This record gives sequence, structure tokens and C-alpha cells, in this order.
Amino acid sequence: MPEGPEIRRAADRLARAVEGDVALKVAFGLPLLRRFGAKLSGQRVLRIRPRGKALLTSFEGGLTIYSHNQLYGRWMVARAGERPRINRELRLSIETDTDAILLYSASDIAVLDARGMAAHPFLAKLGPDLLDEATTPAVVEARLADRRFAGRTLAAVLLDQAFVAGIGNYLRSEMLFVAGIRADRRPKDLDDRERTALAEAIVAVGRQAWKRAGVTNDWQRAQQLKAEGLSFETRRFHVFDRDGLPCWTCGELIERSETGGRRLYACPGCQV
Ligand SMILES: [Zn+2]
Repeated sequence: MPEGPEIRRAADRLARAVEGDVALKVAFGLPLLRRFGAKLSGQRVLRIRPRGKALLTSFEGGLTIYSHNQLYGRWMVARAGERPRINRELRLSIETDTDAILLYSASDIAVLDARGMAAHPFLAKLGPDLLDEATTPAVVEARLADRRFAGRTLAAVLLDQAFVAGIGNYLRSEMLFVAGIRADRRPKDLDDRERTALAEAIVAVGRQAWKRAGVTNDWQRAQQLKAEGLSFETRRFHVFDRDGLPCWTCGELIERSETGGRRLYACPGCQV
């Protein structure tokens, strides 16, 4: 499953094509939504951002298109007026004078105003987005202290999309390693220094994974390992998927465990 950074990079690709430009033509494939095509055509596309695993495309008139790909939906970018040869149903097209972004097969699409956004059942359950500029270490630290999360293990809290949306399995292991904290501890048992370190690691690891195409390992070390000929998967992470291999930092062997059926990796030397 893609995690926040992968979803954001996909959104960035769509944003590069149309964000900030006037959508000359917006068209919907689902009959119930067709009437919004005329309304949105001619409006500027303000922003394309993921929210959890959904995508929000906001327009200058105040409406936002919510879309969730589920398992089948697929976004494509094309030049204006061109369509890829693809045997799928076109559900949404947003076309400027130069580019088009096209959503095929997805059925979970809605057009929402501000009230509809606040009331949307999926969006209402999500915590702040990992990669949103407004999600600072201070915001994350406050959520760690929130009683909804403070008494549960970090293994569970980090995967809860109500805590911070966008953290998945590989990020969980990597964030805890960078903070030097074990997954079986609870936010309320951390001291102030540890809580601050964890909040900073959550934000920093998420942003690095976004900017560096999923590499969460120390960037310079990853480059050095690349020069030594190591494969991308081997050098990409600090601990994730490195069961039984020596920690890049201390040399202890990385340990694998499972919580709730999800893999978790940690260094017994670096994490307390
Ligand atoms: Zn270590």
C-alpha cells in the first residue's frame, strides 16, 4: 500500500500539470456529478493535495473535488485534447489549454463545498496530514500528549490515521528508529526530550521520504552505499526490511516483529 510520501508524489505530478491554471473544461463521467462540469469549467485550479489516501482538488469558486482511487482508480496526465489508449471508463477530466489530468475507473468521487468537506465521513476521521506545511513538530507533539493517543503503544498510535494521516508501515519503523524509541512504549511514558525527538522524527522522516523518493536512511549514507553498488532496497531504509542485518549506526542486528499483522523492524542497540 502506498504511504503518504508516495501519494503526495503522485499528487505533485498532477499538480505540475494543472495547478494554478484555468481549467477550461471539467467533465464528470458519473451521471450524478455531470452538472458540476459546467460549473467548474472556466475556474482556476487552486490546489491538488492528498488527504489520507484521498485526493482533494480545490477550485477558486470554493468547491473541491474529492476522489478516492480505492483499488481500481487510476490518474493519468496527457496533453490537452489527447487521451491515452486505455480500456477504462473516464470518470473525471480536468483540462487546461496545455494539459489534462484524467481519472479512470474510480467511483468514489464527490464535489464538496466547505460544509460538505467538514461533514465528509472519511475526511472527518483523519488527523492532520503528515506532509501538510501546517503539520509542524509542535502540532505532532501536542497530539502525542492528547489522551486519545497517550495511553496506547506507539506501534498502534503511529498507524492510526486519526493521529497523523499518511503514516504507514515502513514510515512507522523508520520514524521510531530515528527517534531512538521502541514501538512498545506509550506516548505518556516518554519524557519531554523523547516526546520532542519523536515529533521531530515523524515530521522529518515523512518530508525526507517525500522529497527523496522514499529514501528514509541518512541521505549521505545512502549516497555512499549507492557508490558502493548496493541496491536501492538495501540502502533505502535504516531498519525496515533489514531483518538480521547490522544496523548502519551501531552494528547490532536489526530485529523483526509483528504487531496487528504488520511488520515492524527495530535496532536493539539504538532504540530504548
Ligand atoms: Zn543501531
